[in-house]
Amino acid sequence: MKKKMKFLLPIVLIIILVMSLFSARSITRIRNYGKLINYVGIVRGATQRVIKLETNDKQDDELIAYVDGIMEELLTGEGQYGLKRTSYADFNNELELLNENWSQIKKEIYDVRQGADKERLLKQSEELFDVANDTVFSIQEYSGQRSTVLVRQMVITGVFCLIVSIFAIGYYVRKYFRLREKTAELADQAGRDELTGAYAIERFYAEGQEIIDKNQEAKLAVVYIDFENFKYINDVFGYEYGDRVLKEYARTLTDSLKENELLSRSMADQFLVLRCYEDKQDLLNMQMKIDRDFMKREVLPDKHVMAIACGICCIEDTIEKLDIRGFVNRANYAQKTIKNAPGSNYAFYNESIREQMFREIHIADRMGSALAAGEFIVYFQPKVSPYTGEIEAAEALVRWKTSEGKMIMPGEFIPVFEKEHLIGRLDQYVFEEVCRFMQDRYREGARVVPVSVNVSKIRFYTADFVKNYAAIKERYQIPDGMLEIEFTETVACESQDYMLEIIKELHDNGFQCSMDDFGTGYSSLGMLKDLEIDVLKLDALFFRGNPDSKKEQLIVKGILGIIKELDIKSVAEGIETKKQLEFLKECGCDLIQGYYYYKPMPGEEFRKLLIGRQDVSLASGNEGGNR
Ligand code: C2E
Ligand code: MG
Ligand code: MG
Repeated sequence: MKKKMKFLLPIVLIIILVMSLFSARSITRIRNYGKLINYVGIVRGATQRVIKLETNDKQDDELIAYVDGIMEELLTGEGQYGLKRTSYADFNNELELLNENWSQIKKEIYDVRQGADKERLLKQSEELFDVANDTVFSIQEYSGQRSTVLVRQMVITGVFCLIVSIFAIGYYVRKYFRLREKTAELADQAGRDELTGAYAIERFYAEGQEIIDKNQEAKLAVVYIDFENFKYINDVFGYEYGDRVLKEYARTLTDSLKENELLSRSMADQFLVLRCYEDKQDLLNMQMKIDRDFMKREVLPDKHVMAIACGICCIEDTIEKLDIRGFVNRANYAQKTIKNAPGSNYAFYNESIREQMFREIHIADRMGSALAAGEFIVYFQPKVSPYTGEIEAAEALVRWKTSEGKMIMPGEFIPVFEKEHLIGRLDQYVFEEVCRFMQDRYREGARVVPVSVNVSKIRFYTADFVKNYAAIKERYQIPDGMLEIEFTETVACESQDYMLEIIKELHDNGFQCSMDDFGTGYSSLGMLKDLEIDVLKLDALFFRGNPDSKKEQLIVKGILGIIKELDIKSVAEGIETKKQLEFLKECGCDLIQGYYYYKPMPGEEFRKLLIGRQDVSLASGNEGGNR
């Protein structure tokens, strides 16, 4: 259409121009006809006057010459009066006749002047009068015809211009609206997630807030949905498959949206839905049905079923006055409670979640001052050889003893610190405390065993991690091989290349590296051959099931066998019973860390334990007494 318009527009303009030129020419001609009528009239009048003078024996040759001049110009179209000849034959014939008459009259005048009778002159004058009248009528008639043609021409031009204008206006109006539509479409796309077409988070916030403000009486809820272990789907089945799952799920949710409801993909595998509802149970049932149907359709290629964790915050359940971000935040909290306490996959935000949320906020707020006040205490849990019963190493585990004397376990505050990105500081503090403890032992000439410290994922990814830790190790003069860095297998899986580099750097600086909680993520034995780790810690989960289960025993035996082949030291965590111990001994496990031997204990008790004071093992200061 745009191309056609480019071509059509000049043609239309040329047509209008030509039509206008024709009309202008016609107007000029019609003006000329009027002039011709006037001058024929002058000829008629002047002739009558000449004859009247002649009959009264008066002569006016000037007037005769004047009539001659007009006649000449009427016939030739050339002269001083600006008269143009026409192509109208009748008029031209009449003019010829008029001229003949005039010539006749001039002849008669001559005769009369020579003494002839004036009668003939008068007769001739009447004839000329009639012929002049006929000439005028003829040009009048022609002029009338031309005027009609001109009017038609002008009407046609006008109508044509009108049609063209309507068409052009229509075209440009349509173009304008299309442009507006396109602009709106582009603006709409800008506010959407490219993969799923769902709203981007900022748009969700903006439009969601508007809906909430406009529908104060309505029951509205924010649903926060997160796929569990989506990384596993991406890693195992590929990003393309992962993208398909997200797209399909977004489509399913979009299809379920009603008036005043919105969908957003807030992050990688997280969705937000603003829902209207009448009854909370119906709202929950609907979400569950959507997820169930989706899961039925989208079974993973390895027949694994995908899991979704979904937190719902009904606005009516919030106490404080919040905006949409606040409701999303509460739904997120509700969703997190599912992840931390598996069982159901759906949770409504409620009073107890609110309390937990404020507890977490309180914990995060107090971290700085607690660190400064030395409220974080390092406990040590020995790692024991099951063959000799000797303490061969230990793990440093942090505790928070508040100023009110309350002991908070890491399970409660570490996830909060991780979420708030405060954990790096705490990890380094613990590490430094361990170094200080070891330096003191060296100084007093006591027995010192290697100690491992936990390093959170966030600390691991900070650029100066190894440099800082190495500087602290150096400052406290801890020999190589005496400090071990524990990281979880999830960290190791996430970016193997980065891990390879970090492990090498740690080794270069005299640290040992160990993979903690092996078996809790999606463990890969293949990964072990690439990562140069020194120690592998089998998670307590391996030993929590049925101790007589042949399958479990086979798995543990297999893993320990492979580890030995790879020259990696094995540590079994969470060992509580003699049966577990005997089995691990049978499998060749190197070290045991668990309540069977010792619970985590304060540094002082650990010191006494190492120097062999028997009263330590029965001390009540540690977490519940040891064997
Ligand atoms: P982890 O590193 O896997 O530490 C082992 C956990 O298992 C400790 O829990 C320990 O007390 C517990 N445990 C050991 N033997 C037994 C047993 O026989 N039975 C049972 N039921 N539990 C046993 P804890 O001290 O509560 O620490 C929990 C987690 O908190 C640690 O798991 C570690 O991931 C984290 N954590 C502790 N201290 C730090 C730290 O300084 N920095 C970081 N980033 N994380 C830490
Ligand atoms: Mg650990
Ligand atoms: Mg562990």
